Amino acid sequence: GQRVVIVGAGMAGVQTAVALREQGWTGEIVLLGAEPHQPYDRPPLSKAVLLGKAEGSTLDVDFAGLGIGLRLGVQVTGLRPDKRLVETATGQLPYDVLVIATGAEPIPLPGGEAEPGAEPRAEPRVHLLRTLDDAERLRPVLARQREIAVVGAGWIGAEFATAAREAGCAVTVVEAADRPLAGALPAEVAAPMAAWYADYGARLVTGARVAAVDENGLLLGDGTRLRVGAVVVGIGARPATDWLAGSGVELAGDRSVAADDRLRTSAPDVYAVGDCASFPSARYGTRLLVHHWDNALQGPRTVAANVVGSRTAAHFPGVVYDPVPYFWSEQFGRFVQYAGHHSEADELVWRGDPAGAAWSVCWLREGALVALLAVGRPRDLAQGRKLIERGAWLDRTRAEDPSVPLKSA
Ligand code: FAD
Repeated sequence: GQRVVIVGAGMAGVQTAVALREQGWTGEIVLLGAEPHQPYDRPPLSKAVLLGKAEGSTLDVDFAGLGIGLRLGVQVTGLRPDKRLVETATGQLPYDVLVIATGAEPIPLPGGEAEPGAEPRAEPRVHLLRTLDDAERLRPVLARQREIAVVGAGWIGAEFATAAREAGCAVTVVEAADRPLAGALPAEVAAPMAAWYADYGARLVTGARVAAVDENGLLLGDGTRLRVGAVVVGIGARPATDWLAGSGVELAGDRSVAADDRLRTSAPDVYAVGDCASFPSARYGTRLLVHHWDNALQGPRTVAANVVGSRTAAHFPGVVYDPVPYFWSEQFGRFVQYAGHHSEADELVWRGDPAGAAWSVCWLREGALVALLAVGRPRDLAQGRKLIERGAWLDRTRAEDPSVPLKSA
């Protein structure tokens, strides 16, 4: 029989294994994960799990029942595509088909992390928030209601600041750019979000760089000191692809696995999916690296279809992956959703007052809806997402009236 080996037992790896069975793969499936825990979902880590409202977020999958060989605590260290082998600390494992799903790892603060094996440094401790272990280390920090500094006003920083405020902590968010979400949204759209921090009793300090972390807290570039009991760093994540060095698998400039439009890599019968992989989007005319949950759910279905198709049909053309990216964030009591990709847009249409509780923004390119951000307006998101998928023209005049549904022109 044939063996599919999946490296990485996060959302994308697990969904690939499940989708392979759903789509009729009868061969062996081995799912390798570095973490010791049963596979779990990450979004709750910055929300319910952090606040202790949920114990964990284990994915509800019957691995044994599905005949998925789940091996936890296995770090894959190398890949030999010429021999169809992956290397681990405990030996080599042959594959017929390999799926790379190693996700991303958070970027540490330069100089902010203790050397492995070094004495634990005096307070404040510097935390990252990516894994269940990270969340479990942060829970008691919140419970003690310490003063906390958050570095980075991105999605993770905002969600962590929200949880910390809900736990009763004093929170200061330090951001290098002049506004929150500077890497994700244009200035005019992100600007109203700065007020959300203050609404929730969190202090947002923009245009500020961290010069040092020492036993007194954070020292900023302008000499300001922040005395805090803990520092949480949310300055982005990068694809976990170091283990592919020397394998010949092509990486893009951002260190993601450079997959093709069918999520195949440059090595034969090796696929890549989820936070570790970028793919060319014909819809948006650019290569996309998506670090969101929905991509780790949808991408695996395409990978599974291509694995099953290419291994069972004589002339299989392959299934193309060209999604409308989607994600959500829960921050400062608001439900924020985004669909599409706006970097090529030429026009912005507001729906509702951005100072209010609920509003949306539509991005158009030559009259067609290409992206939409909805704050507390899930119906806009649902309607807009369908219009984006169809490449529909937006009825602009109607779109400006938040009391009528979004419609195509
Ligand atoms: P990961 O989840 O990173 O899984 C990869 C797995 O591979 C990891 O378990 C890792 O240990 C393992 N691995 C890595 N290298 C190796 C190796 N060499 N050998 C073996 N195993 C390896 N998205 C949203 O859309 N909305 C949200 O609200 C949201 N909230 C989030 C909150 C937090 C705190 C975080 C961290 C992420 C959030 N996301 C959210 C993003 C979403 O969780 C990710 O996009 C998703 O987890 C990606 O899944 P993945 O399987 O590709 O990668």
